[in-house]
Amino acid sequence: MKKIAVLTSGGDAPGMNPAIRSVVRTAIYKDLEVVGIRHGYKGLIEKDFFDMNRGSVADIVQRGGTILLSARCEEFKTEAGRKKAYANMKEEGIEALVVIGGDGSLRGVQKINAESDIKAVGIPGTIDNDLSCTDYTIGVDTAMNTILDAINKIRDTATSHERTFVIECMGRDSGYLALMTGLAGGAEYILVPEIDFTPQEVCDKITQGFNRGKLHSLILIAEGVEAPFADLNKYHGSPGMAMGDLIRERTGMETRVTILGHLQRGGSPTATDRIVASRMGAKAVELLLEGKRDKMVNYRDNSIGVCEIKDAIKKTETINMDIYNLANILSM
Ligand code: ATP
Repeated sequence: MKKIAVLTSGGDAPGMNPAIRSVVRTAIYKDLEVVGIRHGYKGLIEKDFFDMNRGSVADIVQRGGTILLSARCEEFKTEAGRKKAYANMKEEGIEALVVIGGDGSLRGVQKINAESDIKAVGIPGTIDNDLSCTDYTIGVDTAMNTILDAINKIRDTATSHERTFVIECMGRDSGYLALMTGLAGGAEYILVPEIDFTPQEVCDKITQGFNRGKLHSLILIAEGVEAPFADLNKYHGSPGMAMGDLIRERTGMETRVTILGHLQRGGSPTATDRIVASRMGAKAVELLLEGKRDKMVNYRDNSIGVCEIKDAIKKTETINMDIYNLANILSM
């Protein structure tokens, strides 16, 4: 094998840059040529390629986002689109590909392996930490710290004004970010898609808390919470807004809603994100040199390893109930 390529796809995540840096420099160290692909799968179809050298990844280890730029590309989901991508890679002499992204991006890796002779492997890069077979996806640590910083600030004003605050965080269908930051930030209520609740229960608990003398209530809600608001979302906009409106209507308490939004995806990667990304990038190159395909680099019990992509994208793992129960006990 002489030439490999690297791309980032789906939502960007802090730590993608250290992962790219590690792929490029490990590959060069192993005497491989590296092609960078801009804009994810869109760049494969449009042949947005450039040669990378050690200097191409200088001064990026500390930067959020991705220097390769990311995109969501509907055309890559079509056979015709993918055929163009394979032809472009062939023309360029690319024999193998590292894709850094979330579950959708990994489905793209599966297609490449099934339909072409290009060997492709994946690195989990998403702040949502919503993949199976890995304890960790690149970006989640930075996102958790960003959310915690926001919770700390909101807590100051919540206490001063004796108000209820609803904070909505990202995570797509997963409650991981809400659960972990709810525990670390001392939220009174953590509302996640994996655990059923009714808005009325939450309102009752808030009222009881205030009657016992609580000065404020912090409620952390994941963006993926839908079911309890199935009929309400169209009026209220998002789970956080819906919960805030319901608390106001049903308890009469002053309630403020903060939707953290895209600030959760930005920022300089934390030490943990940089370290895991650097280790995963090197492992991906190693897998390709061993002739492996259709694998994802994973992180389990403090070790970098490998799993099948088909297992990583199965939604088999749900949130940790021990942590959820602990967060409830500690917030009483
Ligand atoms: P995040 O978790 O941050 O949203 P993601 O990788 O899951 O990241 P998606 O938008 O789901 O983000 O997927 C990224 C891209 O991967 C898509 O825009 C598309 O180009 C490609 N992709 C997704 N699913 C498939 C599929 N079934 N076949 C081929 N390509 C796919």
